[in-house]
Amino acid sequence: MKNKAIKKNKDISKISSKVFIWMQVTVLLLCGIFFAPPLQVMAEGFRYTLDTDGELIIVIDPGHGGGNLGADYNGFLEKEMNMTVANAMYEELSKYEDITVYMTHTDVETDMSIKERAEFANSVNADFVFCLHFNMSPDNKLFGSEVWVSAFGEENREGYRFSCVQMETMKEMGLFLRGVKTRFNDKGTDYYGILRYCEEYDIPAALIEHCHIDHATDVEFCDSEEDLIAFGIADATSVAKYFGLSSEELDVDYSDYELVTLTPGSLYVQADTSDPDICMIEKNYEDMDRDVIGVTVTAVDYDSPMLYYSYSIDGGLTYTPYLSWPETDVMAGKSPDTFTFEIEVPDGVSPAVKMRAINQYDRYTESNLLEGYPVFVHTPQEVPVEDTLVSEETTELEDVSQGDASGNGGFKAPERPVKEEEGIAFGNFLKLCLIVVILIVVFLLISNLITSFRRSQRRKKRKRK
Ligand SMILES: [Zn+2]
Repeated sequence: MKNKAIKKNKDISKISSKVFIWMQVTVLLLCGIFFAPPLQVMAEGFRYTLDTDGELIIVIDPGHGGGNLGADYNGFLEKEMNMTVANAMYEELSKYEDITVYMTHTDVETDMSIKERAEFANSVNADFVFCLHFNMSPDNKLFGSEVWVSAFGEENREGYRFSCVQMETMKEMGLFLRGVKTRFNDKGTDYYGILRYCEEYDIPAALIEHCHIDHATDVEFCDSEEDLIAFGIADATSVAKYFGLSSEELDVDYSDYELVTLTPGSLYVQADTSDPDICMIEKNYEDMDRDVIGVTVTAVDYDSPMLYYSYSIDGGLTYTPYLSWPETDVMAGKSPDTFTFEIEVPDGVSPAVKMRAINQYDRYTESNLLEGYPVFVHTPQEVPVEDTLVSEETTELEDVSQGDASGNGGFKAPERPVKEEEGIAFGNFLKLCLIVVILIVVFLLISNLITSFRRSQRRKKRKRK
C-alpha cells in the first residue's frame, strides 16, 4: 500500500513537472510575442551617407601576420589564407569605379598591432574597414560563416547592413550561416580590438570570419588557392553591393542594389549573453525493428536563434558532433521552437537520451533525461534466397577473405549458402523416399495381380479336369 502510494505520488510529480515545463514554455512564448524586442524592424530604407569628399575609400585588413599566425590547424595557416583572400579582394575591388582601396599590409610577414591597423585606416580617411579572418573552435565543434561588428551607434548599424549582404553572399556559396554578432569585453566596450579602435575613429568595420578551418563541413570551402580567391571575389562583390558600385570591366551595376531596410535610432545587433531559456525532449516512439527511437525537441531562446543541436545516448557522458538546427534562419533571428528526429540505437544498448540546444552565441542548455527504454538487440536482416543474390554475396565474401587473411570480419553470410544446400539435400531425400514408397506400392500391386491371375488359371484347369 505504502509503495503504491509513493509510486502514485511520483507519477503525479512527474506529470506535474511536465505540466510545469509546458507552462513555462507557454509563458515564454507569450512573453516573446508581446515583449521581445524585434530583431529587425522594417521601415523605409536609407543608404549609408558617405562623407567621402566625392571619393570612397576602403581598407582591407588581412588578419594576423608575422609571428602572429592566427589559426594554425592541419596544414592551414590563417595569416597566409587571409593574405590570399585580401589580395583577391583588392584585385576585384580595383575593377570598380569610384573607389580607392588600401591594404593595412601586403607582406604576410608584417606583424602589425591592432591599434596600428586602425590608425592606418584613420590616416587614409577610410570609410569602412574590412578585416579578413578564418576561424577554429575548441574541440573543433563549430562550423559556418559569421561577421562581427561594433555594438555601438552608426558602426553597429552600418556593420549590420554590410553584414546582411555578406551573409547573403556566403549563403550563395553554400556556407552555413552563423550570422552577425557583437561581443563585449569586461569594460563594456567592443571585445575585438579592431572594431573598438575603428569605433573610436568613427569608422564602421566588419570582422569577417569566412569559415572554420578545423571542421569537415567548412574545409571544402577553403582548402585550395582557388577557394580562397573565390572568398576574396565574394567579399569584394558584397562591398560593391553595399556601396552600390558599378564596374564596366565586370559589366555589373549595383547602384540599385537594395540593402536591408532599418528603422533609424536603434541597435541592430545585440550580444546574447544568456543560455537558451528552455531545452526539453519527449519520447515519441521506439522501433525495435529498425533499431531507432523518435524524439521531439523543444528549445526556446528569445535573444538569439538556435544554430545547432547535439545529443547523447549515454545519459550525457558523450555527445554527438554539432548538427545544424533544422530550418534555422539566423538572419531573420528565428529558429523553429520544436522538431522531431530519429536516433539510431547501437546493438545491446538501452539509450539514456539527453539533448543540447546551442544558440547563435554558442551557448547551450541541456535537456531532461529520457530513460526507461528496453535494450535494443539487433536482429540480422533476412536476405532473399534468390540464386543471383546468393552467388553475388558469395563472390563478395571471397573478395573480402582475399584481403583479410584472418577471414573473420564477423560475416554470418557464409552460413547461409550452406544452410541452403542442406535444405536442398533434405528435399531431395524426401523425394527419394517418396519414389521408393511409390515403387513398393506399384510392386505390391503387380505381384498381387499376378498371384490372383495364377489362382484363376489353376481354377480353370481344375474345372476342365
Ligand atoms: Zn583570425
